[in-house]
Amino acid sequence: MTIHELRTRLYGAHGGDMQFTARCPAHEDRKNSLSVGLSDDGKRILLKCFAGCAVESIADKLGLAMADLFTKQDAPKPQKVGELTYEYTDASGRLLYRKTRVDYSDGTKNFFFKQPNGTKGVKGVQRVPYNLPAVMAAQTVYFVEGEKCADAITKAGRVATTLDSGAKSKWLPEYADHFTGKTIIIIPDNDTPGME
Ligand SMILES: [Zn+2]
Repeated sequence: MTIHELRTRLYGAHGGDMQFTARCPAHEDRKNSLSVGLSDDGKRILLKCFAGCAVESIADKLGLAMADLFTKQDAPKPQKVGELTYEYTDASGRLLYRKTRVDYSDGTKNFFFKQPNGTKGVKGVQRVPYNLPAVMAAQTVYFVEGEKCADAITKAGRVATTLDSGAKSKWLPEYADHFTGKTIIIIPDNDTPGME
């Protein structure tokens, strides 16, 4: 809660907005024994009764938990903590589009697509599985969720692919042509979209 909200619960408040005295609710107080202020960082309301009442009992009398003495802070704006770009090419290796993944400090992520000419999105662009040239040449292909996972398998010396929107990607009929006659090892994420 804010120090202003706390003030409305106290009797006899006197002084400034951020530092004032009031009757202590935890003992029979006739002379504003309670001092109310903010910690140096402004994040916590400080209560001190000069008659010696414990902060817990003062908060209790006001119907507050100790956690309520922390002032509300505006949620910090999530910061960009990472950005990765993946290239999607046709079977000959010609760049069709790039997919960028942005990670934020609150754990959320965002994806966007861009065409080689700078146009945002993939409207009208041929969609392909990731690593298509390598997929075409391979006999065994690992089918995973996400480029990060595919790259890890590639690094381990195997051929891996994914679709460009994870497990929620739409399967296009023409994708089947790229995999006909090959051994496909499917490794979904161990979650509901993966199982579906
Ligand atoms: Zn007191």
